[in-house]
Amino acid sequence: MHIVACVKQTPDSAALITVADGRVGWGDAAMVVNPWDEYAIEEAIRLKEKHGGRATAITMGPERARDALKSCIAMGCDGGVLVADAALAGSDARATARVLAAAIQKLGDVDVVIFGKQAIDGDSGIVPLAVARLLGWSPLSYVLQISALDAGARTIEVARLLEEGRQLCSAQLPVVISVVRDINEPRYPTFAGIRRAGTAQIPIWNLGDLGLDELQVGAAAVTVAWQAVRAPASRAGAVEILAGDSVAATVSMLADRLQAEKLT
Ligand SMILES: Cc1cc2nc3c(=O)[nH]c(=O)nc-3n(C[C@H](O)[C@H](O)[C@H](O)COP(=O)(O)OP(=O)(O)OC[C@H]3O[C@@H](n4cnc5c(N)ncnc54)[C@H](O)[C@@H]3O)c2cc1C
Repeated sequence: MHIVACVKQTPDSAALITVADGRVGWGDAAMVVNPWDEYAIEEAIRLKEKHGGRATAITMGPERARDALKSCIAMGCDGGVLVADAALAGSDARATARVLAAAIQKLGDVDVVIFGKQAIDGDSGIVPLAVARLLGWSPLSYVLQISALDAGARTIEVARLLEEGRQLCSAQLPVVISVVRDINEPRYPTFAGIRRAGTAQIPIWNLGDLGLDELQVGAAAVTVAWQAVRAPASRAGAVEILAGDSVAATVSMLADRLQAEKLT
């Protein structure tokens, strides 16, 4: 089995995001693995441990995104591929998917691709489905459990998390999956993993390596333009701390306040 986890390097969720002149900034906040992708990495490693084979992490991003791949290797992935090229700057979700699909095709022997359900910066949730479409593989989104995988029969069964409940699906491999956080508890990197990540050779593939040209990606190929990006208006609000002489008195004060505000 060859399992691929696609990960994006994003600003830390604690970063103070600013919007000025339509441009989004996060200062010198730490860059981390997109938090939703930690579940994808964990699931890729678990599949490899259970069924044998290897797990590879892929990211498209600038040179510094190599650190995200090192985090994946430290957790237990066998290797990583960085797709980096100056022409990729400003890519929309469609171009991102085109590049990732080409990288997966270049790997050649992939059975399962796993994504997080969305990226905390772009937030479109489109990339996994677009990659599935480009590859012509079955898309399985919002997966909260991989209940069975038969490598011989090349079948997979999953449970998807829907608002109405759970949906059980089966598909033929290869598949593209996006996972929700209920699927697992991501592990911490081990000391040995961190050492392995430190010396890992991470290849960099550019557009030429993927058989793509500049007009298919980056700002040149944007089909969905974010025309106006604004910071949300700050909310008016106040904090009131109720402190009675006892718990019962505090609860009673709270109940009175909620009633007065007509919130009960
Ligand atoms: C400042 C700013 C300006 C932007 N302007 C535009 C714009 O004008 N038009 C527009 O269409 N989009 C714009 N975007 C969105 C940007 O193009 C998307 O972030 C990108 O296309 C990926 O989509 P997503 O982040 O919504 O990923 P999602 O679809 O939400 O992510 C789903 C999964 O795909 C993975 N994934 C996403 N990107 C990668 C990657 N590079 N490598 C590996 N895995 C990945 C995620 O990690 C996650 O697991 C902008 C983003 C920012 C931060």
